[in-house]
Amino acid sequence: MNRSQMMLMPPSRYESQKRRDWNTFGQYLKNHRPPLALSRCSGAHVLEFLRYLDQFGKTKVHAPVCPFFGHPHPPAPCTCPLRQAWGSLDALIGRLRAAFEENGGQPEANPFGARAVRLYLREVRDLQGKARGIAYEKKKRKRPLQLQGGSQMHSTEASESVAMAASSNSGTAMNIPLSVLNL
Ligand SMILES: [Zn+2]
Repeated sequence: MNRSQMMLMPPSRYESQKRRDWNTFGQYLKNHRPPLALSRCSGAHVLEFLRYLDQFGKTKVHAPVCPFFGHPHPPAPCTCPLRQAWGSLDALIGRLRAAFEENGGQPEANPFGARAVRLYLREVRDLQGKARGIAYEKKKRKRPLQLQGGSQMHSTEASESVAMAASSNSGTAMNIPLSVLNL
């Protein structure tokens, strides 16, 4: 078939999904406070967007403190948060990356191709793989430095995990749900 015939065909599922994703991201930028122009968008903003999307996720990701951590089929409900599945985020980033360049963005300035985004996706994949059924070896972590003179040394685990989240980029995704859970 020739080119004009192709143009008349309805867009493929991938194409319409890509268009929807691009509109969603545009909407996100529009509602961003402070306002954010696409040209000023960085990998960090993309990560912010991905974390924002987690509130709409439907994939249960067990925190390491949950008794069902690593169980592929937990026997009971738990309070762990729902997240976006790694595979959905990965596919989403692929579509947005393509859409960015189709909408005039320079490949070398593509925030969806940023190294930070790649690393984040890999981290989410590993975390969700562990949380949902792959054997997990607990890493030994250094105790955080004793702050404020030590009279409150035995802080709760919740505040400890918040401190770790604040001090380590790599642990953020894992530690946020911990602090939420630790009631
Ligand atoms: Zn759980």
